[in-house]
Amino acid sequence: MKQNLLLFTVGYVVALIMIALASVGIHWAERETIVRQERNAQLINIAGRQRMLSQRIVALDLRLQNTEPQTAAHTRLESSLQEAVNLMSDSHRRLTQGDLVLPETAPLYAAVEQLYFDVSRLDYRVKAFLSDVMPSPGRITTASPDQSQILAEQAELLLPDLNNAVSLYEQNARAEIHHIENFTQAGVLFILGLLLAEALLIFRPLGKRLHGAEAHLQAIAATDSLTGCHNRRGLMSAANSSLAYFSRHGHEVSTIVFDIDHFKKVNDTYGHGTGDEVIKFVVDRALASIRGSDIMGRIGGEEFVIFCPDTNHEQAGVVAEKIRKVIESTPYRDGPLDIRVTCSFGVFAYQPDKNSDPAWFIERADEALYAAKRAGRNRVRFTDLQPGGALQLPESAAA
Ligand code: GH3
Ligand code: MG
Ligand code: MG
Repeated sequence: MKQNLLLFTVGYVVALIMIALASVGIHWAERETIVRQERNAQLINIAGRQRMLSQRIVALDLRLQNTEPQTAAHTRLESSLQEAVNLMSDSHRRLTQGDLVLPETAPLYAAVEQLYFDVSRLDYRVKAFLSDVMPSPGRITTASPDQSQILAEQAELLLPDLNNAVSLYEQNARAEIHHIENFTQAGVLFILGLLLAEALLIFRPLGKRLHGAEAHLQAIAATDSLTGCHNRRGLMSAANSSLAYFSRHGHEVSTIVFDIDHFKKVNDTYGHGTGDEVIKFVVDRALASIRGSDIMGRIGGEEFVIFCPDTNHEQAGVVAEKIRKVIESTPYRDGPLDIRVTCSFGVFAYQPDKNSDPAWFIERADEALYAAKRAGRNRVRFTDLQPGGALQLPESAAA
């Protein structure tokens, strides 16, 4: 039992630790989602801006063609163009070598690498486009209309692949959210599974044990430890429900009370231990003579009660007489010991009403028991509620 409790405790603690770890994992996944989504938003934004910058560079280059050199407008356009080229070049570096390169574990890492460095060679083409406009830092080529036309065509060809890059980054972001969602779902399912396992493997068996232990305690509290039959408490509780049932159904219940005659002498002669054995012996004889539906209990040292449901006084008299005879004729034997005891019986039959109290039935039967004692013991007597006294029933043979 102790070992099992230890097992339950260890199981419970392990389950708690696993739930705690899974919760931390889910929390980490949520934080990771936020961090990654912030990074993905930045990535998509910058990749999208590259498309716009390629178009702006072509437009600025064209306007530069049509502006008088050495004028303020020309200088302004030139610096705008430089700014756009620098920004596009810087963003491209961040996307291909810098802080915005996808980690190798990213779902679309291979596709993005292919786009920039392999099949589409976007990296090479972006660099070529930018160096056509600005061959060295700060020096803008003063392009001819023909060159501007080539630049515009180059930018036109870049557009689908710059679009592709944005689309790949978007797909990558969706795939990452999906992965983390799956991870979180798995974590939640894991926790639910653990809680279910805890309920089934720990709390259910524990509940059953508690229930069993409680039932066992209740049985002990209702049982006489010497004889194993009901004690007063158990008898009253069993009789209460039985009387209520028979009150509802209008049936008669008989109460038999019996007491061992001159039992003090048994104790005095053979000792208390043997007296105990004789009490057990008498109870065994009595139990063997009654029906399973009868309720027997020990209410005093050597005094007992039997409630006989659905039994009238005549039938109860027969039962009491049967027990009296069997006890009288069967001595308790143990080695050289041969102890004969007799019992006196009081019987009371009545149909319980709504407020019937088992103690009242016992008191009435007790009156007959004392009549039996007074009449000389080892006999059965009846209590009659009718004015006028005893019932006209065949009285048992007096000793
Ligand atoms: P009566 O015929 O009037 O009933 O006489 P009695 O001697 O049986 O009755 P009395 O009430 O004088 O004595 C009952 C005795 O039962 C006294 C008590 O020591 C003994 N007794 C009560 N409970 C136990 C028990 O659990 N074990 C034993 N061995 N004796 C008990
Ligand atoms: Mg007695
Ligand atoms: Mg007594």
